[in-house]
Amino acid sequence: MTLLELDGVHAYYGASHILRGVSMAIDEGEVVSLLGRNGAGKTTTVRSIVGVEPPEVRSGSVRFDGADVTEWPADDIVRAGVGVVPEGRRLFTELTVEENLEMSNIARGRWNTIYRRAPGGGSPTMTVNELYDLFPRLEERRDQRSGTLSGGEQQMLSIARTLRLPDLQLLLLDEPTEGLAPQIIQSVSESIREITGQGLTVLLIEQNVREALKLADRGYVLDQGEIVYEGTVGELEREDLDQYLVV
Ligand code: ATP
Repeated sequence: MTLLELDGVHAYYGASHILRGVSMAIDEGEVVSLLGRNGAGKTTTVRSIVGVEPPEVRSGSVRFDGADVTEWPADDIVRAGVGVVPEGRRLFTELTVEENLEMSNIARGRWNTIYRRAPGGGSPTMTVNELYDLFPRLEERRDQRSGTLSGGEQQMLSIARTLRLPDLQLLLLDEPTEGLAPQIIQSVSESIREITGQGLTVLLIEQNVREALKLADRGYVLDQGEIVYEGTVGELEREDLDQYLVV
């Protein structure tokens, strides 16, 4: 069954026409990568889906789990089961690792809307102990202030925190390996592989093609706000897409 579908999405920031008819679909249980260079429109695509700092979608539609969510505010989409790990991580740097993980159920500031418990009290998708099994580094550092973690550890925490959302169905990962050293990329990728192995549907936004293709089933390539290629990982590996990608 199709879980997420974008159909001819045209999105604008003011007068700037950023997405030019983006169409893509993700089936339940799939791991799909959205690839493209800096400025191709990847983050704008994520924002068009989740409604955080949203561009104006002037035509086309976004459907999630059978509903047209194009105009939905972010908190409604999150409650419907979409979790986003934003570019840049956005942790509560003064709080410890464990407090960040517990935060997901506490109203606070801007992220109140994102991490609020679903009405009716849905239980978190993963418990803190399950997350420590998935990310042992976080357990080792549970009492450390998150602002003092390494970049890779912060990325793990950002992913882990999103897995605290109740009833998660679709995880959007916006450039999870950005700025990380190769060895750390491997460790973050392994954790992502474990998560995808548990059947969660994932949209993985990446510039790092090699990492993305190791994790994904299929991929879309975005360039200047248009999907210029779509295919299975095998097809993507065979195509000469260097002009659109960082390889
Ligand atoms: P990156 O890897 O740099 O995040 P990206 O593929 O995610 O690249 P976007 O962030 O979606 O690209 O940006 C696409 C285009 O939209 C860029 O030209 C960018 O300058 C523009 N843009 C992004 N956010 C805004 C905004 N809030 N207001 C105006 N223009 C924006």
